[in-house]
Amino acid sequence: MFEKSIEAYEEACQVIPGGVDSPVRAFKSVGGTPPFIERGEGAYLVDVDGNRYLDFIQSWGPLIFGHCDEEIEEAVIQTVKKGLSFGAPTVLETELASEIVEMYDHIDKVRFVNSGTEATMSAIRLARGVTGKNAIVKFEGCYHGHSDSLLVQAGSGLASLGTPSSPGVPADFTKHTLVCEYNNIENLRKCFEDSDDISCIIIEPIAGNMGLVPASAEFLKECRELCDKNGALLILDEVMTGFRASLTGAHGVIDVKGDIITFGKVIGAGMPVGAFAANKEIMGHLSPDGAVYQAGTLSGNPVAMAAGLTSLRKLKSIPNLHTELNRKAVKLVKGFKEVATKNNIPLQIDTRGSMFGFFFADKMPTNFKEVSAFCDFERFGKFHHEMIKKGFYFACSQYEAGFISTVMTDTMIEECIVAADEVMQNL
Ligand SMILES: *Cc1c(COP(=O)(O)O)cnc(C)c1O
Repeated sequence: MFEKSIEAYEEACQVIPGGVDSPVRAFKSVGGTPPFIERGEGAYLVDVDGNRYLDFIQSWGPLIFGHCDEEIEEAVIQTVKKGLSFGAPTVLETELASEIVEMYDHIDKVRFVNSGTEATMSAIRLARGVTGKNAIVKFEGCYHGHSDSLLVQAGSGLASLGTPSSPGVPADFTKHTLVCEYNNIENLRKCFEDSDDISCIIIEPIAGNMGLVPASAEFLKECRELCDKNGALLILDEVMTGFRASLTGAHGVIDVKGDIITFGKVIGAGMPVGAFAANKEIMGHLSPDGAVYQAGTLSGNPVAMAAGLTSLRKLKSIPNLHTELNRKAVKLVKGFKEVATKNNIPLQIDTRGSMFGFFFADKMPTNFKEVSAFCDFERFGKFHHEMIKKGFYFACSQYEAGFISTVMTDTMIEECIVAADEVMQNL
C-alpha cells in the first residue's frame, strides 16, 4: 500500500540528497519509506498511494488551522493575482507586524525574514551588535535552525565551548558558542562566571525539539537575571511556540520577558516566513536605521504576509481557541497514558496549548541527556510505524513535539486512542 511512495522515494533519491529537502523527512530514525504527500484535506494528509492520515505534524507546526483553510487559501489567491513579489515595501508587512506587536506588550518592531533559521541567525547578530560582545549561550537539545554558530554540540564537560555538530562548520565559528544544560541553573551560573563576553542567551522557553520539554519557571528567571546582571540579551526562540503554546506563545504562559523574540512556522501559516522582534531601542540598531546589517530579497513577501496575516487575525477572532486546542491535546495524551498503563507500558505525557509530547520512559526527562537516557527509542520506532499503517501521522522521532489543529475533532482523537491501544498491545 506504499508502492507509489516507494517508487517516488527511489526517484527522488536520484536527484535530491536522501530524497528529501530537510533530513527529518527521510524517516531515518524510525525506518521505512516516507509517504509522499499528494494533498492535505483539513485534519488529514493524503499520500500518492491514496492513504489518508490524521496529521499531527502539520508541516512541523505552521498549520494550526489544518490543511486548505478556506480563508487563508482565499487571501493567498487574491494576493497572488496582484503579483508574487516586488522587492519593495507593501502595506501587508505593516499589517502583520502590527498584529504581532499588539500581542507582545514589550515589543515595538518586527523584521520579517524567510525562515526560522534566518530569524535566529539575525537575532544573534543583532544581540552581538547591541552588546558589543561575541559569545552566545545555547542549551543542549534546543534547536534554533542550521546556521553555523548554532550547529554545535556540547564538548566534554558542561558549560563547555561548543564543538561543531556537522562537518563544514569550522571550529573557529563555534568557539563563541557556549553550550549549557537545559534546566540546570548551576551550570548556567558557572558559564557566566567563566566568561565576560556573553552577548545573549538563546533558548526555546518551551523546548519542542527534544520532545516537549518545558523550561522550569526558576530556570527562565535565572536566565533573565543572569542576562540583566551581565549586560547580555535574552533571546526567546518562539519559532515553534509562537501562537501555539498560547495565543501569545510561550510569552503568554511564562513569567519572563525576552529582549528579542524570534518567530516562524505559525506566522507564515505554511508559507516560508520568519521574523525577529524587540523594543525600539534594540531594533534601532538594525539597518537601515542602525549599523547591524541584515537583508533579504524575498523578505516580507506579499503572498506569505497575506497567509500569516489571515492566520493571526483568525487566531485572535476565535474566543478560547487555545483552551479548546489544549483540551484536545490533553484528551489525546491522557488517552495514550491510559492505554499505555493498561498495556504495562511506561509513558510520560505533557502539553502546552496546541503542543503535546509523549515519551516511552519511566520518568519525565528535563533535558536532552535525560531524553536520550530515559526513552525507549526502539519502542517509539515500532509505535510510529504501526500508527502510520493505521493512518495516524506522528513526527518520526521521539525528539519532536506533536500538534493539534483546530479542525481535529474529538472523534478523530478518540479513534487515534483506540488505534494506539491496538498498537500498544503488541509493543
Ligand atoms: C523549526 C525551528 C527553527 C528553524 O526554523 P526553520 O524555518 O526550519 O529554519 C528554529 N527554532 C525553533 C525553535 C524551531 O522549532
